[in-house]
Amino acid sequence: MLYLRTSIAAAVLISGSALALAQTPAAPPPAAPPAAAAPPAATAPPPPAATAPLFATTKVEGTDNVYIFRYQGHQSMFVVTTAGVIVTDPIGLRRPQAVTTYIDEIKKVTQQPIKYVVYSHSHYDHIAGGKPFKDLGAKFIAHRNARAQLQRFPHPDVVMPDEVVGDKRVLRLGTTTLELLYVGRNHSDNSLVMRLPKEKLIFTVDFVPIQTLLFRNLPDTVSPPEWEKSLGRVLALDWDRMIPGHPYAGGRLGTKQDVKDLVGYMQDLSAEVKKAAEEGKCTDTAMKDIKLPKYEKWGNYATFLPSNVERYCYLNNGN
Ligand SMILES: [Zn+2]
Repeated sequence: MLYLRTSIAAAVLISGSALALAQTPAAPPPAAPPAAAAPPAATAPPPPAATAPLFATTKVEGTDNVYIFRYQGHQSMFVVTTAGVIVTDPIGLRRPQAVTTYIDEIKKVTQQPIKYVVYSHSHYDHIAGGKPFKDLGAKFIAHRNARAQLQRFPHPDVVMPDEVVGDKRVLRLGTTTLELLYVGRNHSDNSLVMRLPKEKLIFTVDFVPIQTLLFRNLPDTVSPPEWEKSLGRVLALDWDRMIPGHPYAGGRLGTKQDVKDLVGYMQDLSAEVKKAAEEGKCTDTAMKDIKLPKYEKWGNYATFLPSNVERYCYLNNGN
């Protein structure tokens, strides 16, 4: 029941423009230790550290053509091929200058046309602002549930996908192959993993936070156990490095160990909450009492642990 109330609250939230804010994980800014980054939950993405420039374009080490465009606390992968550019999230919510900057940055690297924009998932803070790419002729691709979500809750600054993906789509452009893979429901019901097989790189957004707790009480997440399963599918893929949708400290990319650690966190959290539920402590007492010292150095530990506990209490109550 409690969770039902939360669902209704979440639905109300989703129907308003607050969605993007609600879904913005408070990832640490670059060059800051993860534990130091705990901005208030409902604020916009963390500002860059005082010394960090507003945006940066970085070529991924060891690749010929894979880049990360970061603007404040969000980032997006783009791939330059011999037949055009594949862009991912526009990251332009309430800041159209991020998108025009993104295009300028691409132009500094290549004169190839921008052929595709691929959405990581339906949350506005990552995908708003794509119109300038559309005006350049890019085709927009997203998971089919993302389009359904955007049709239910349209946003004036979000370009509707032209094409949708089910479980898998292989995008070939020039000599580059980019796989778009659906690994199940997690942080949303429409997250795509983008995998570059040759480079053994993946780009994931919001559902594999690196050494950081889950966002609040997991709004827009239908099932934490399904999320955990989706992480197992990510681990089963062939890759070495993961580009996250929010920069981790020092710009470090994710590894399979980070995914395993996140699964470990979810399992430890689940076990502690189960014990508390059996002792009749869910929800309020558990939220106050449960500590997971093993993770106290992770980002947002103090801020989000109680609400992570809350969500798992609902799970123990059958929701
Ligand atoms: Zn999100």
